[in-house]
Amino acid sequence: MTDHMCDILVIGGGIAGASIAAHLSEHARVHVLEMEEQPGYHSTGRSAALFSETYGNTAIRALTRASRSFLASPPPGFCSVPLLKPRPVLIIGQVGQQVAFDDAVRQAVPGTEVEALTVDQALGLCPVLRPEGLLGAVVDRGTADIEVHELHHGYLRALKRGGGGLSTAARVTDIQRDAKGWIVHSAVGTFRAAIIVNAAGAWAGEVGSLAGAQDIGLEPRRRTAALIEPPRDATSDHWPMVLDVEERFYMKPDAGLLLLSPADETLTAPCDAQPDEMDIAIAIDRLETATTLEVRRIRSKWAGLRSFVRDRSPVVGFDGLQPGFFWMAALGGYGIQTAPALSAMAADLVLGRWRDQGSAPFGLCADDISPARLR
Ligand SMILES: Cc1cc2nc3c(=O)[nH]c(=O)nc-3n(C[C@H](O)[C@H](O)[C@H](O)COP(=O)(O)OP(=O)(O)OC[C@H]3O[C@@H](n4cnc5c(N)ncnc54)[C@H](O)[C@@H]3O)c2cc1C
Repeated sequence: MTDHMCDILVIGGGIAGASIAAHLSEHARVHVLEMEEQPGYHSTGRSAALFSETYGNTAIRALTRASRSFLASPPPGFCSVPLLKPRPVLIIGQVGQQVAFDDAVRQAVPGTEVEALTVDQALGLCPVLRPEGLLGAVVDRGTADIEVHELHHGYLRALKRGGGGLSTAARVTDIQRDAKGWIVHSAVGTFRAAIIVNAAGAWAGEVGSLAGAQDIGLEPRRRTAALIEPPRDATSDHWPMVLDVEERFYMKPDAGLLLLSPADETLTAPCDAQPDEMDIAIAIDRLETATTLEVRRIRSKWAGLRSFVRDRSPVVGFDGLQPGFFWMAALGGYGIQTAPALSAMAADLVLGRWRDQGSAPFGLCADDISPARLR
């Protein structure tokens, strides 16, 4: 085992770790430690790939709005295919959901990207909806599919161009501190660094404990998804994503198949999340109630962890107890769509360059996402 030296050590090679490391590598010696063989093995590789500026709380919406320009026109050489592909989201309300549906309609504005639709208009967009029991729909035309793999690997390529390193199969097992900084023991050796970035996804709470950092109350929550076959005679690729107004299920075209999720949020310990048969059955039942689709065959199924703290905003900033320990965690169900803005802001915070006044054009202050708010 050798000793490796760097300025900033990033723990976790998912979208959070890759994106912040790419920015930091322009200014410092950066190394990323990822415990799996593949850096996108956990949440980042299991998402539904949605970009929506109307999803999540105020902080998430601000970060998502601020990420659009990067995703719509990434810097030259960042990626080889477009990162966004427009796909409307159709929010449907059914009998028994009048209150939630009325609320959704109140947020819609005629003539804008977010508009209320009649049942017939909704059927025009997604012909398999069952008209009986459908109250109506709200369409959001500003939404898109994200090329997650390309975005993630664009950041990993940028990290490499910046001179940064990535070690896989490199689980961090112990974190110590001496007068010179952090000493991090991993499966591939010992690393010394002045700053640690904790981007360990569902394991961020555990990594924080290893370093003696504050408890942010991180809660990993399992979400299940399955790919099902569309009807043989239907061309479903152009259908919108269909989202239940109370987020009880969603369905979305995905490379010739349909991605289905019961939008579950089961509290789980950090792990290699696996789909639960009951959650898949619930998703199928809700889909078959809302549409004329009959699920005959599941092509594949998976689950992943979406990790939240109590206010559902990300936790990004230096720890309140351990100097030089930086959090980039709790990205919930929004870590992909917020990555461009959040990673740029996080890198500025690490480097001590972030100023709320003037440089927060999207209306978010460092305090809104700081771990200090959770103490
Ligand atoms: C089903 C599902 C649907 C989703 N849909 C969307 C969506 O439509 N849009 C959106 O924006 N977001 C979505 N998300 C959320 C998004 O996937 C996450 O917010 C994001 O991937 C979190 O990224 P991360 O880098 O924090 O976590 P991860 O991708 O899990 O990365 C953390 C990494 O840290 C590594 N690690 C952990 N412990 C250690 C250790 N001790 N040593 C070294 N490495 C370690 C892990 O191996 C892992 O690779 C969805 C998530 C799920 C599960």
